[in-house]
Amino acid sequence: MDLTFIGTGAADWPRDVLFDREALSQGRHRGFTTTLLGQNVLIDCGPRAVEEMHVFGIDVPAIDHVLITHSHGDHLCPDAIAELAASRTGRALSIHGDVEALNTLKGIAGVDLHALCPGVAVGVVGLTVLPLRANHPLPNPAEVPLHYLIDDGTKRLLYATDGAWLPPQTFYQIRECVLDAIVWDATIGESRGDWRVFEHNSLPMLRLMAETLRRNGCLPPEATVFLTHLARTLHDDHSSIVATYARDGFTVAHDGMQATV
Ligand SMILES: [Zn+2]
Ligand SMILES: [Zn+2]
Repeated sequence: MDLTFIGTGAADWPRDVLFDREALSQGRHRGFTTTLLGQNVLIDCGPRAVEEMHVFGIDVPAIDHVLITHSHGDHLCPDAIAELAASRTGRALSIHGDVEALNTLKGIAGVDLHALCPGVAVGVVGLTVLPLRANHPLPNPAEVPLHYLIDDGTKRLLYATDGAWLPPQTFYQIRECVLDAIVWDATIGESRGDWRVFEHNSLPMLRLMAETLRRNGCLPPEATVFLTHLARTLHDDHSSIVATYARDGFTVAHDGMQATV
């Protein structure tokens, strides 16, 4: 399973900065968190996701499906979805997500909307995608924020951002399988006492959860834990955190980073 990290930042990164491929690749600037699976499945699509994909030479019209985690503005931008759909000629763009998130996209031309339910797996171009409930508050309390357990037949990826501590029913489903990789919300660094721990992870939380997954046999030593959705103000510079978080077995993603799991 091939991953391309398009954006790896939390919502506090300035969105009006001119993109500079070198700065993005060195983690000096981060776009809002968006990830590409293979060539044609995008996870989330924030305000500048399409622009950033062009910076990295992504074949944007080749994207056939978008998985939406939730409707916060850094993850789901209707204008960007419309731009993505317009880049394709004669083929609808399939958007998958919670029905309340999809409702924000009604009226956009060239999209097919597919509602997901937590715990009910769907097939998406050769992938089995299991939506799982995330721990992340939303302005519309009817919307269910989602993580995704994605299986391509040989490898399993848990995509878990945005969200704080995994809800118990989500952990129970993860516990049933062996993961090859996690892409994980790491909004908060080492600081303690930050109010965002109720909706995002800090490094101490990630250490505790990773250790628990390892001891329960669902995160083997060779699995890769990628950290994404990093807040601008809550981490040291990229090269420093690459070294320090590696001590816990964590790989810090940066925009444009490619990985195969
Ligand atoms: Zn976010
Ligand atoms: Zn969010």
